[in-house]
Amino acid sequence: MEQEIVIRLGAYAGVFALMATLEALAPKRRLRTPKRARWLSNISVTVLGAALVRFAFPVTAVAFAATAEARGWGLLNAVSLSPLFETALAVVALDLVIYAQHVVFHLQPILWRLHMMHHADLDIDVTTGARFHPFEILLSMVIKLCAIAAIGPSPGAVVAFEVILNATAMFNHSNFALPLPVDGILRFLLVTPDMHRVHHSVIIRETNSNYGFNLSLWDRLFRTYRPQPLKGHQEMAIGLANYRDPSRLTLPHLLALPFTAKLLR
Ligand SMILES: [Zn+2]
Repeated sequence: MEQEIVIRLGAYAGVFALMATLEALAPKRRLRTPKRARWLSNISVTVLGAALVRFAFPVTAVAFAATAEARGWGLLNAVSLSPLFETALAVVALDLVIYAQHVVFHLQPILWRLHMMHHADLDIDVTTGARFHPFEILLSMVIKLCAIAAIGPSPGAVVAFEVILNATAMFNHSNFALPLPVDGILRFLLVTPDMHRVHHSVIIRETNSNYGFNLSLWDRLFRTYRPQPLKGHQEMAIGLANYRDPSRLTLPHLLALPFTAKLLR
């Protein structure tokens, strides 16, 4: 348990510091809104969500995976595979679940109300990667526990999945100007910042594309892949079309958004 916390926090802090430095040294876009206010609300929401999950659930995802393993729940606990292959399969399977969850959160109006807060950010950078409404975080945890019970990943595979997902989310939300040739090669496998930025466009058909957080495979496979934004990365507008005023996107407004939102779709 202590080892898990050290690994997760260490990886989180390391990747955060790396991406924050890279996006400060080589930014892709000029930020449109003051960074300090955004970072304060984004980091506050992240801490709030993490604390809520910690206190609302009697187990962590990793501890639940250990219970599932001990009781033989889930597909992977019913077969005998090499640990490395099993971990890789589990990480890919959980990534597919996250992709499917993300699609459903866009298509179902009630769930979209929860997910809107993530999209209401007027810029995207490393802090947007973990900016989710605390209720979305709680619901995501329920979905994750169900997925663990069905798939049966080992506790180590869950740690690997969570560390990889956090790292890739910070990477692909970052404002780092990844060189285009690197982007072109990397996006065969992973979601790059340019690929995920399309998903944060105000144009609805762009918002409803590039749902992947880690592997780019799912968007290609399920035909939700959109290579570039229509207006280009510099000119595209980030956020939601009917929420453009920063004074109406402060922390209290954001937390109230699921209940106050006027839906365009
Ligand atoms: Zn989304």
